[in-house]
Amino acid sequence: MCSVDRVSGLLSVDEALAVVLERASALPAEAVPVEHAAGRVLARSPRAATAVPPFASSAMDGFAVRAAECPGTLPVAIRIPAGRPADRPLRSGEAMGIATGGAVPEGADAVVPLERVVDHGDRIDVPSAVLRGDNVRPAGGDVEAGAPVLPEGSRLGAAQLAALAAAGVAVAECPRRPRLSVLVTGTELRAPGTRLQPGEIYESNAAMLAALLAGFGAVVERRAAVADDEAAHRSALEEALAADVVVSSGGVSVGPHDLVRRTAAELGVEELFWGVAMRPGKPLSFGVRRRTLVFGLPGNPVSSLVGALLFVGPALLALQGAADPAPRWHVGELATPIRRHPGRDDYARARWQSRERPGVLEPIRGQESHMIVRAATADVLLHVPRGEGELPAGATVRYLPLP
Ligand code: AMP
Ligand code: MG
Repeated sequence: MCSVDRVSGLLSVDEALAVVLERASALPAEAVPVEHAAGRVLARSPRAATAVPPFASSAMDGFAVRAAECPGTLPVAIRIPAGRPADRPLRSGEAMGIATGGAVPEGADAVVPLERVVDHGDRIDVPSAVLRGDNVRPAGGDVEAGAPVLPEGSRLGAAQLAALAAAGVAVAECPRRPRLSVLVTGTELRAPGTRLQPGEIYESNAAMLAALLAGFGAVVERRAAVADDEAAHRSALEEALAADVVVSSGGVSVGPHDLVRRTAAELGVEELFWGVAMRPGKPLSFGVRRRTLVFGLPGNPVSSLVGALLFVGPALLALQGAADPAPRWHVGELATPIRRHPGRDDYARARWQSRERPGVLEPIRGQESHMIVRAATADVLLHVPRGEGELPAGATVRYLPLP
């Protein structure tokens, strides 16, 4: 199906992402009121219910005139407020007062701004020439009635929501949000706030994964930590598999307590890959059971973070119908040299060198995969392609801002 690295036998990150995205097609669409559609993706292109603007309107506070009658002195027939059009057309030789957004009356073909006239109350002097169309926003200048407002696959950010509202679209058709189950494994894990016994550590992946993946639009269900015991794995995974996406952490390496992959296979999950040529996070697994996507992230917190950002987030966007769900890499410059790994791409944590130079990146100290406290000081994930030696200062690098 896809080529593997000849030396390591591992998929590259891009190959692994392609396998994931191939299985992550958009979920069925539902009707979403536009006021609740922030961050959603359009399943269908909505048509404008009205032209925008719906009528020829004034771009300025001023006077509606016939351009050919300027310069000149014109009696002011009516003053038109926004929201209430004039009750008759503009006659030859007269002006009408008009507010920004007011409907330009029939018979007028330009608006002269207030500051370009002398206003005597009942008449105005227009001292200079006016061009037809000056300060008139034509009906449909932004979009015509019935035309598509946004293409299918558009993500509804702030401006897109306003565009739909302006065009009179109250309800959008969007793929439903994926339900995602977070399942952390490890007998050693305890909730923060309790007392640790020897050998135990505090559980930190569930909060991280829940926040990160909710940010990608998932409806997240957090499950209790699962002990490294077959029966516990089996029942927790079986329940989690009711979701659209299962994200587990821990238990995907080769130790005797690493039960996630085996249990998943017993429950009918077809594994599509295990192992990606990346650091941290190499033993990441991905499989499917019917339409449910199953990600096994390694337990080290930074490995879980990187795996979730590179694979789970894009899968969630694809399930929601995004046209281009792959991570959006930015391009920057390396501030200090960094060693490369010969066989695996590195995803190093880095900081802006300063707020004034946000594209210049300095890898943080403490790049080990358990060091979530150090990683929490980083601004970005920096891609260091595999290779010999080091990437020198000044090298062009790709990075992903950390959400
Ligand atoms: P594993 O992938 O299960 O072999 O775990 C690798 C390392 O990550 C071990 O040191 C675990 O104790 C640690 N770890 C696993 N899961 C979590 C978690 N949810 N929170 C914090 N550390 C974890
Ligand atoms: Mg474990």
